[in-house]
Amino acid sequence: MTRALLAGLLLLTLTGCERAPPVHQHAFFALGTLVEVSVADSDPQRASRAAEAVEAIFREDHQLWHAWHPGPLMDLNRALAAGQGAQPHPSIHYLLERAAPLAERSGYRFDPAVGGLVRLWGFHADTPPEGPPPDADALRDWREHKPSLADLYWDEDQVFSRNPVLQLDFGAFAKGYAVDQAIARLRALGIDNAIVNAGGDLRAIGRRADRPWRIGIRHPRAPEVLASIAIEGDESLFTSGDYERYFEHEGRRYHHILDPFSGQPATGTTSVTVLHTDATTADAAATALFVAGPDHWQEVARAMGLRHVLLIDTAGVAHLSPAMAERIHFETDPPPPLRLSEPLP
Ligand code: AMP
Ligand code: MG
Repeated sequence: MTRALLAGLLLLTLTGCERAPPVHQHAFFALGTLVEVSVADSDPQRASRAAEAVEAIFREDHQLWHAWHPGPLMDLNRALAAGQGAQPHPSIHYLLERAAPLAERSGYRFDPAVGGLVRLWGFHADTPPEGPPPDADALRDWREHKPSLADLYWDEDQVFSRNPVLQLDFGAFAKGYAVDQAIARLRALGIDNAIVNAGGDLRAIGRRADRPWRIGIRHPRAPEVLASIAIEGDESLFTSGDYERYFEHEGRRYHHILDPFSGQPATGTTSVTVLHTDATTADAAATALFVAGPDHWQEVARAMGLRHVLLIDTAGVAHLSPAMAERIHFETDPPPPLRLSEPLP
């Protein structure tokens, strides 16, 4: 079962047994994942119109931000590779503006300048690659050039790169931004209670009738729910996992979350879940903390202003911030071994 479908089931499992309020459901594929919009609203026509408006946003974003299908991002990457400046599409301009401080605060562990590295590993394609890993020379060449978002500079509305190897890939946080856009549109259309769930990564507003939305967090190594969390008000929950896209070669798993410094899949972590108000930050942060790993996630979480973090390491230990420990409910029996961090301010 694909991750997207499983994520959908998780949400239904945890909410479906409650007394039925009028929840309008609408699902479609975009940005490489199944997107499910749930709108709890007394007016079914308004709910349905709003869900369709969300689909239109995702479809447009899909076309604008695809790094390897013809479109504005591919045009920009081509210009940067040729050493030319370009005026990015307004939505790409905005993504670059959002990415810059997130990348800097993450110590460039989250860095959308890794497009060339993603391509080297083959994780740019619609279907996960079969391996083998890229050859050592190609990876050494990447590390020697080591492009980062800090290599971009602006001259009025034109963007240039000081580094010829820099290629942009917004895969680590574009979904978060699309979810934020979707929630803004729902609100503008008068919707107060909804979830926009993109393959298990979501933002929820309001409540489901008389109780909060309850969300499942997938077990990184089993087809079951590891934990659940009640979301109320306005919160986003994003997970980065090594099970989403990977290949196996000679008994080793090579996954899609790459450490920009080593050029290799990040080690030590199987999944990271971040709860935060805005989805763009939550998405970028989940990727950044995955790269930071079990030894460094706390410093990156502080720098990125996070309070609620769950990291599962490769030994199955659940590292948690105290604020996350207060909110989360483990669904497995027994629960995983827990390691509580110092409070995050
Ligand atoms: P996510 O699932 O949100 O962690 O995003 C992973 C996707 O982001 C990958 O499929 C790549 O397209 C891209 N990516 C991988 N590693 C990084 C990184 N360190 N920083 C930014 N983007 C990355
Ligand atoms: Mg992410």
